[in-house]
Amino acid sequence: MLKRSWVEIDLNVLKNNWKILRQEVPPDRRIMAVVKADAYGHGACEIAQVLQELGCTDFAVSNPEEALALREAGITGQILVLGWTPPEYVGLLCKAGITQALLSEEYALSLSGKGLKAQFALDTGMNRIGLDAEDPEACERVIRRFASSFELTGLFTHLCAADTPEQDAFTRLQIERFRAVAERVKDLGLKDLHCMNSAGALRFPPYGDLMRLGIVLYGLRPDPSVELPAGIRPVLAWKSVISMIKTVHAGETIGYGRAFRAEHEIRVATIPTGYADGYNRLLSGTGIVLLRGERLPVLGRVCMDQMMVDVTGVPDAVTGEVVTLLGGGYSAEDMADMIGTIGYEVVCGIGKRVPRVFMHK
Ligand SMILES: *Cc1c(COP(=O)(O)O)cnc(C)c1O
Repeated sequence: MLKRSWVEIDLNVLKNNWKILRQEVPPDRRIMAVVKADAYGHGACEIAQVLQELGCTDFAVSNPEEALALREAGITGQILVLGWTPPEYVGLLCKAGITQALLSEEYALSLSGKGLKAQFALDTGMNRIGLDAEDPEACERVIRRFASSFELTGLFTHLCAADTPEQDAFTRLQIERFRAVAERVKDLGLKDLHCMNSAGALRFPPYGDLMRLGIVLYGLRPDPSVELPAGIRPVLAWKSVISMIKTVHAGETIGYGRAFRAEHEIRVATIPTGYADGYNRLLSGTGIVLLRGERLPVLGRVCMDQMMVDVTGVPDAVTGEVVTLLGGGYSAEDMADMIGTIGYEVVCGIGKRVPRVFMHK
């Protein structure tokens, strides 16, 4: 089925990534698959179902809607909501057996007493959410205060610079702060202590019962400086087609604002994908699209629903031919690099109106 603009999710690549990571992580630790934001744009339900088949029992999302969608899709293991849930949702979370992060003492109080499964977030230096781990005594007091008004299953923290070698001393301090609080409440027998994201798991000695892996599962690096284990590959490719080809003569301009002017005669292909599909408008005049392995420069401004590329280098290109916007040697990281962002934002930004096609289902 030929589509206008679509994302191909290669589930075989996902399975292979999982198997490689499963070998990297010590066998006595679980991997918690981070599938928030629709699995970083890859399709959370399908990704979680495949990982569940491979033995994954722990999943993390950002909000209650994402958690409930996974339950409905047949995910039976632990589903942890990492972020804030409005207190009115507590009943729904309890009913679906979802685990909620407790962001502060005040927040814990607003959710307490309903037997909700929960884990305390500890703030070890990111200053986003969690009990302030710089004061381990206070953390212990709060954890004990709520130990019986929730089904308390764990503690976690988030490393904010684990991908940056110059910050390694700070990362070790974060892990140490986490460990200090965990030690104080050891007698509670909390089974899920976790502090490692992808970069932490790849770059630091293992600590905790589970590793929260997001970006590496999808085959991307947390930062260009972080080496991925051999064999890990990107799961996602973004494709579109050539809708029209024409000759543009020297002196003519292309697109909005006439931002590109042809210096000599060129062949121009129109691609029916634009910034409303999540193709970032900052790629105007700098992006590239792959056709038969050739890199075609984006000409002028990316439109809402279309863009134009220089196809002069492929003289026999035809209408209807498939082009690659991401994948085939041009990764989300490469695209991110061109526009000053990170691969995470590129894949999360692919729009809802771009269908996800699951290969090797
Ligand atoms: C998103 C997120 C992760 C996963 O991070 P990656 O870098 O994608 O592995 C882990 N923990 C928390 C709290 C997160 O918000």
